[in-house]
Amino acid sequence: MADTAYGAALAATEVDVVIIGGGPAGLSAALNLGRARASVVLVDAGRPRNAATLRSHGFLTRDGVSPLELRKLARAELAAYANVRVIDRGVVGGLLAVNSDSGMRFIAALQGRRPGTPPAVASRSVVVATGLRETLPAIPSLRAYYGMTVFSCAACDAWELQDRRLALIGETPDLAARARLIARWTDRLTVFTHGADVIDTAEEAELAASGIPVERRRIHDLEGDRGAVAAVRLVDGTRIEIDGGFVRPQWHPALDFLGGIDADRDDDGHLVVDGSGRTSVAGLYAAGDAAAPGPQQLIVAAGQGARAAAVLVHDLVGVRTAH
Ligand SMILES: Cc1cc2nc3c(=O)[nH]c(=O)nc-3n(C[C@H](O)[C@H](O)[C@H](O)COP(=O)(O)OP(=O)(O)OC[C@H]3O[C@@H](n4cnc5c(N)ncnc54)[C@H](O)[C@@H]3O)c2cc1C
Repeated sequence: MADTAYGAALAATEVDVVIIGGGPAGLSAALNLGRARASVVLVDAGRPRNAATLRSHGFLTRDGVSPLELRKLARAELAAYANVRVIDRGVVGGLLAVNSDSGMRFIAALQGRRPGTPPAVASRSVVVATGLRETLPAIPSLRAYYGMTVFSCAACDAWELQDRRLALIGETPDLAARARLIARWTDRLTVFTHGADVIDTAEEAELAASGIPVERRRIHDLEGDRGAVAAVRLVDGTRIEIDGGFVRPQWHPALDFLGGIDADRDDDGHLVVDGSGRTSVAGLYAAGDAAAPGPQQLIVAAGQGARAAAVLVHDLVGVRTAH
């Protein structure tokens, strides 16, 4: 966006806080900032990470709720706060930090706008709550089972699969550690490396001693019906029956919009935050899956959003204590 457009945005719409992302992290930040009488614009592209699943688990008072319902409930609560504006199906395509007469301002440029939404919003602070993008191993039908009977988060979904014949599929170096975790829920686990050299012989021996076989052949595809996985088919035609499984995705925080804002990131690209959700850039906060470290869970994301909101309000008025 040209400098003149940023200038126009500064003059037009300015709020205390722009929240980028309307998952549990962003929604919780919005609720708490709204209650603190901050003027807030929340921009949400509407593509939550857990869209593939029908039920979410482990969120206190909402165990088993559909992801859509959880968002609906949160949005209904936000509707009570006139100082919180939600821009649906909007994407923040760029963020700039500029010095203005009234101090440092962030300018969020919006893409894919509905009629009536501004091209850009200026704010004193920003909460990044944009979640993660996932890349799954390249197995043709994997997406058809993901979120149905194949999952990535053991804490979220292993209870429903306990004691069943499970697969753990992955190509990441933490696969053996992951297997030890999932073995907590079943003693009928097989690890599939899909041909990747990610488990060494010592790890393989350790897993074998716990009754967990490692299958190193490449996977041809998964078999099953309407989301219910039934078997792993290997490239040589071998068929191994399973009732469900876990996959280790690769994660990519989608933060290209930060452009020249040089906030610290960890090796995986997550925004590094202090214990209160502050990034290394003053006025820029992060919560949920976009911020390191995990666990990556809805209630954790919501908690991080609430914490970032509280600390942000304190920072706005110069109060340095967290409570
Ligand atoms: C299949 C699956 C099942 C899961 N099941 C569970 C479960 O049962 N229990 C549990 O606790 N957790 C579960 N999780 C994990 C949970 O979904 C995440 O931890 C949680 O959604 C993180 O919340 P968030 O607010 O950080 O991000 P998200 O919920 O992913 O929300 C981020 C939002 O930001 C938006 N966004 C991204 N970029 C932009 C941009 N530039 N501009 C505007 N908006 C943007 C996205 O469209 C999205 O709406 C599951 C995950 C998966 C993949």
